[in-house]
Amino acid sequence: RAKAEGRGTYRYFETEMDARLRKRRALELELRTAIDDGQLSVHYQPLVDLSTRTVTSFEALVRWQHPERGAIPPVEFIPLAEEGNLIGRIGEFVLREACRTALAWPEEVRVAVNLSPLQFRSGTLFQTVRRILFETGLPATRLELEITEALLLERTDNVLATLHALRALGVRIAMDDFGTGYSSLSYLRSFPFDKIKIDQSFIRDVASDPEAVAIVRAIVTLGGSLGMRVTAEGIEDEAAVGLLDAVGCNEGQGYFFSRPCRGEDVPVLLNRAREGLARTG
Ligand code: C2E
Ligand code: MG
Ligand code: MG
Ligand code: MG
Repeated sequence: RAKAEGRGTYRYFETEMDARLRKRRALELELRTAIDDGQLSVHYQPLVDLSTRTVTSFEALVRWQHPERGAIPPVEFIPLAEEGNLIGRIGEFVLREACRTALAWPEEVRVAVNLSPLQFRSGTLFQTVRRILFETGLPATRLELEITEALLLERTDNVLATLHALRALGVRIAMDDFGTGYSSLSYLRSFPFDKIKIDQSFIRDVASDPEAVAIVRAIVTLGGSLGMRVTAEGIEDEAAVGLLDAVGCNEGQGYFFSRPCRGEDVPVLLNRAREGLARTG
């Protein structure tokens, strides 16, 4: 009897797993057509200089509006794209879209695009970025690329060579989600980043948690002495802004300033920002 129950339980899990796998596979298939069907778009979230309160740049964030399932967040479909060998196409779409959109902005405003570690494996990332900059006409100095520590885990010569080549072109390189990966500090020696983005998990409690403040302060000092700008992600309230500015953090991003918005809405946001982002956040 116990045995039978055991088997039943096993079967229950098996079918639940099957269902989840089936959904993943269906979603992956649908993602293949989503690009051509125009279901993917790019939204933009401002990064704000904390001392002047001016917008320095926008981060490009991909969105998938599924015809039946509605909005599917990138944390769900980017891994599918990586598994299904679609990340190259999606990455290229986001990059082209972001560069094209940024061309219409004031020239001091840059655009930041996230890269998956897998985009480096093709061996053609540098050529792709250079070609898209050429095709869209965006100066390389207005493009920033965000990478995560996962990329540097690969520690291949190819990765470092590609990063150096991009930088020589004038593209800036930012280390995203800093503090969430492994042995972060050694990575700061292996490559001269232009910017460190402190992960939002440290920012969330910064106004109330002295330990979070201590960590942020240390990262700001470290970044500053290595000549890197430091950005705080996930700022949701005024108290965090004041504190981050006081410890010398250069830049901030978060719902307090603005949620990610459509490309068409960026000029409106920039106008509003000129009147003071702090009050309109
Ligand atoms: P990320 O690069 O760290 O982007 C920041 C994420 O934090 C975005 O989520 C943004 O909407 C969210 N965020 C911004 N401010 C706040 C805040 O004040 N509070 C909270 N709770 N969240 C905030 P999103 O757009 O869902 O993207 C999630 C992740 O998906 C990104 O994290 C990035 O790793 C990845 N991703 C997004 N777009 C792309 C893309 O085009 N290519 C690649 N490879 N990855 C992307
Ligand atoms: Mg990012
Ligand atoms: Mg991040
Ligand atoms: Mg993040």
